[in-house]
Amino acid sequence: QFSGTLDINRQDEIGQLAQSFQRMTERLSENDRMRKEFISDVSHDFQTPLLNIKGFAELLVDEELSPDKRSSYAKVIQSETERLSSLTKQLLLLTSLDQLESPLRRRAFRLDEQVKEIVRKFRWLLEEKQLSLSMELDEVEFTGDPSFLEKVWENLLSNALKYTQSNGEIDIRLTSKLDTVEVRIRDTGMGIAEEHLSRLFDRFYRVDHSRTREIEGTGLGLSIVHQVVQLHKGSVKVESEEGVGTTFIVTLSNL
Ligand code: ADP
Repeated sequence: QFSGTLDINRQDEIGQLAQSFQRMTERLSENDRMRKEFISDVSHDFQTPLLNIKGFAELLVDEELSPDKRSSYAKVIQSETERLSSLTKQLLLLTSLDQLESPLRRRAFRLDEQVKEIVRKFRWLLEEKQLSLSMELDEVEFTGDPSFLEKVWENLLSNALKYTQSNGEIDIRLTSKLDTVEVRIRDTGMGIAEEHLSRLFDRFYRVDHSRTREIEGTGLGLSIVHQVVQLHKGSVKVESEEGVGTTFIVTLSNL
């Protein structure tokens, strides 16, 4: 019978076993820490809009309100509900990506058509912000999960639009290479300072400077991008300069 602690510095098999137990324990507590952090972030993100909804609903009950006030309070409730709804959608998407077994349903489809379709969805915003758009898309037949990949282009493009001021430029390129495809989404927006780049794909991470604070977001978009790309065995890179613009480059293998 064995009692006492295993010496992880031992050079024999027992030592190796002790080391691998040690690594397992570290990984488990890291998972545990991340799960706790995740739950606390989620709760916080739900709490703020809920408090706003509650507060403004209470104000609405007052019968003496002017029509103007009434409608402005109702608008807050509407937009906060919208926020909760998009947060829930993103969380559900992230959970579906977290399954042990790959959630991907692969099939062959035209990647260029898909990108064009997403751009079409954002036409109104491009016009509203008077952004100019250039696009160069190779015709590509790609095998992957179209419904998850759609979210990748949607999130990257919606960020490019969100974080670029009026009259800026957006450039989208899809290039077919030997056995990979590359999608580049470049904007001339506010850019991201270097110190944020390493955490950009973390869940809930948002660059918090005066200009982004009033731009709506959950900090989940890029973590979804990262996870979907990883499940496709691809990679995503970002190049950015503050005040100049940002380029996201997604590379996927197409064998
Ligand atoms: P969010 O919902 O906040 O947009 P994301 O995960 O999509 O969350 O992005 C994380 C953060 O990265 C954003 O809050 C923003 O600060 C920064 N970011 C993402 N895309 C861009 C971009 N194209 N230009 C400037 N900043 C960006």
